[in-house]
Amino acid sequence: MNQKPVRVRFAPSPTGHLHVGGARTALFNWLYARNRGGKFILRIEDTDQARSTLESEKMVKHDLRWLGMDWDEGPEIGGDFGPYRQSERMEIYKKHAEQLLAEGKAYRCFCTDAELTAKREQAEAESRSPHYDGTCLKLSETEIQEKLAAGVPFTIRFKVPDNAYTLYDMIRGAVHWEPGTLGDFIILRSDGMPVYNFCVVVDDHLMEISHVIRAEEHLPNTLRQIMLYEAFGWKPPKFAHASLILGQDRSKLSKRHGATSVGQFKEEGYLSEAMVNYLALLGWNEGKDREEYTIPELIKAFSVKRINNSPAVFDMDKLNWLNGIHLRKLTDEQLFEVGAPFLVAAFPFLTPLVADHNPWILAALNMEKNKMVLLSELGERLQFLFHYELKGNEEMRAFFAEETHLAAGRLMAERILAVKDLTPDSFWEAAMSIKEEGFKGKALFHPLRALLTGTLSGPELNAMVPVLVSGANIPELVSIQDRCRKFIEVFGR
Ligand code: GLU
Repeated sequence: MNQKPVRVRFAPSPTGHLHVGGARTALFNWLYARNRGGKFILRIEDTDQARSTLESEKMVKHDLRWLGMDWDEGPEIGGDFGPYRQSERMEIYKKHAEQLLAEGKAYRCFCTDAELTAKREQAEAESRSPHYDGTCLKLSETEIQEKLAAGVPFTIRFKVPDNAYTLYDMIRGAVHWEPGTLGDFIILRSDGMPVYNFCVVVDDHLMEISHVIRAEEHLPNTLRQIMLYEAFGWKPPKFAHASLILGQDRSKLSKRHGATSVGQFKEEGYLSEAMVNYLALLGWNEGKDREEYTIPELIKAFSVKRINNSPAVFDMDKLNWLNGIHLRKLTDEQLFEVGAPFLVAAFPFLTPLVADHNPWILAALNMEKNKMVLLSELGERLQFLFHYELKGNEEMRAFFAEETHLAAGRLMAERILAVKDLTPDSFWEAAMSIKEEGFKGKALFHPLRALLTGTLSGPELNAMVPVLVSGANIPELVSIQDRCRKFIEVFGR
C-alpha cells in the first residue's frame, strides 16, 4: 500500500504557558512522527489577536525545547509549507472563504450582533434550537448587492449540509453525528478574521498533514472541520482524539490541582526526561507492565492505537517516583547541568564555584542524587553544610539526652579535633577509634551523624565526609572542626 508520509503538527494558540494537556498533545504527535520517520510541524494559531502574544509563543517554544521536542518545520526555521504562523496566512484564508462563497457553499450574513442575540433568545424562549435561522441565506442577489454597496458589514457563514456524519477516529472508533447537530457557522468574521475551525482545515490540507492527534475536547470542532473538507472536496487527515486529563478528584485538570504548566514543573525541580516519560503514560501504555522509559525507548514503543479512550488521571506521586528514577540515571555531567542552578538559587555564594566547574559542586550534588525526588529539595537538603545549630535544637537535645549518645558524641568530637591534618581517612580513623571504648553499631553511627549535621537525617556518611572535608576552604561552609567545637561547647562537660 502506498501510504502518505506521516506529517503531524502541534498547533498551539499562543495565549499563555504550555500546559500539561498541550504538552501531552505535542508529545503524542512528536513521538508518532519520530516513530514513523515522519515530520513534526509547529504551527502557531494566533488568529485570536486580542489574546495571542509573541511572548507566549516564545515560552511555548522554550518549553517544547526543554522537553526535547524538536520540530522539522515551523516559524523561523521555515519549511516548504509556510508561513507557519496563522496571522501571516490571512490572504490564503480569505481566498478559500471566497471560493466557498463563489461555489454557493457559504453565504454573506449581514445580521448584526444585536439581531443574532435576539434570534437566539427568541429561539430559547420557544424551545427551538438556537441555530442560525438562515435569514441571510434567503436574500436575493439584488438585496445582497444593495447591502454591499451601502457598506453593511457582513460575516461569511458556512452552509451546513443536512447530513449525518461519521468519523472513524483512530482512538475512539466510529463517532456519529445526526443531521441538524450544527447550525450554519461563521468562517470569516465581519472584520475579515477567519475563525479557528476554518483556518485549521485550510492549513492542515495545504500543509499535507496526515494525522491530527489532539484532545477529545476538540471533537465538536472536528465535525465542523470534516464538513469543510467535504465542501472543498479534500480528503481529511486521520483523526485521533485522546481523552481528557483529570485531577485526582476526577474533574478536568486545572490550576486548582497544583502545577499545570510545564515551566512550573521545571521550576519545581522536575527533569524533562521524567516529564516526558510521565506525559507519555497519561493516556498511553505499551500494553506491558512497564512504566519507565527513556525518550528513545518511548519513540520506539509508541503507537496511536495504544492511546486509551478513557480519561487519564494526573498522578503526582507517579510523576515524583519517575523523577527519582530519572535522577538516578543522570551522568555526572547531566547532574551538574540540571542541579547547579538549584544549588546557586539556594546558596548564591556558590556561584563562582559553579562557574569554575569546581568538583566540590558535583560531589555535593552526588551526595543527594540517590535520595532526592526533586532538584528543588537541594536547598533544604544541603542546608546543613552551611548551618550548624545545636542551641535550641530540640531534636538534638532529645537525642543527646541519652547517655551513650552523648558520651559517643563527645569522645568523637575530641578525637576528631585532635587530628592535625583532617582528610576523609584521618577523620574516619579518629571517629572510629572510640570503638575501642565499646561503642558500636547505632550507638556509633547515629551520634556521629548527629554530631556532624545537627540532625538525625541526611546523606550517607561516606558521601558527606569528603564533601565536608574538601569544602573547608569555602568560607560559608561550617567545617568539621567547627562542628566539633560547637558540639563540645553545647554538650560538653
Ligand atoms: N489551536 C488549537 C488549540 O490550541 C489547536 C487545536 C488543533 O489541534 O486543531 O487548542
